[in-house]
Amino acid sequence: CGIVGIIGKENATDILVQGLEKLEYRGYDSAGIFVTGKNKQDYLVKSIGRISNLQTKISPEIQGTVGIGHTRWATHGKPSERNAHPHTSNNHQFILVHNGVIENFEEIKQEFLQNQRFGGETDTEIAVYLIEYFSKLGMTTKEAFKKALTVIKGSYAFALIDKNDPETIYVAKNKSPLLIGLGDDFNVICSDAMAMLTETNHFVEIADGEMVIVKADKIEIEDEKGNMVYRESYEAQLDL
Ligand code: GLU
Repeated sequence: CGIVGIIGKENATDILVQGLEKLEYRGYDSAGIFVTGKNKQDYLVKSIGRISNLQTKISPEIQGTVGIGHTRWATHGKPSERNAHPHTSNNHQFILVHNGVIENFEEIKQEFLQNQRFGGETDTEIAVYLIEYFSKLGMTTKEAFKKALTVIKGSYAFALIDKNDPETIYVAKNKSPLLIGLGDDFNVICSDAMAMLTETNHFVEIADGEMVIVKADKIEIEDEKGNMVYRESYEAQLDL
């Protein structure tokens, strides 16, 4: 299971797929990517099995400047294309990848999502529907994401894209690994620095409970109370 993301580079698709290949060692049963860009064309591709299976489904027009990718190790719901990440909200506005386990997903269903139809069987889907639910109450995407994080219990690394604003990737973690990699007018996210060493060797750690706004030219880290956090990057050693 692993996560990759990129914002601000022309060849987002290639970078995501190469990153997922580097995460293969973590183990997985299925994989998927979502890419979009300024022209708002967007693509969601998923496959069970190896990254090479996913690759055969990626045609040349699947291009973008922002995207997220995922390798899944199924914990809730069988390995299938439908259960593979990224997951989308009902209105198709929100796209989410998740590593970890949402422990209170049944409670969240009962409390917030009684009228929701579910496309698959994963705990992750509940998170993307919850974000949509808060968004429909009038919250901004950032507010809806933060609100969802206060409700969700369990382990997670999340990366979220709002299709209406593809200039931002929203990120958070709790007990699952996730790093931000800093580039020159682009930024990346990954479960392991190894996945993105071809793009950068400057990484910023995220602490449990923090939320990060990732844009092409900057990142903003917030703690649980909403305070801005400033953290130095470190240089990852290229270990070939
Ligand atoms: N619990 C989620 C699922 O079963 C995420 C698993 C993972 O970390 O890959 O889809």
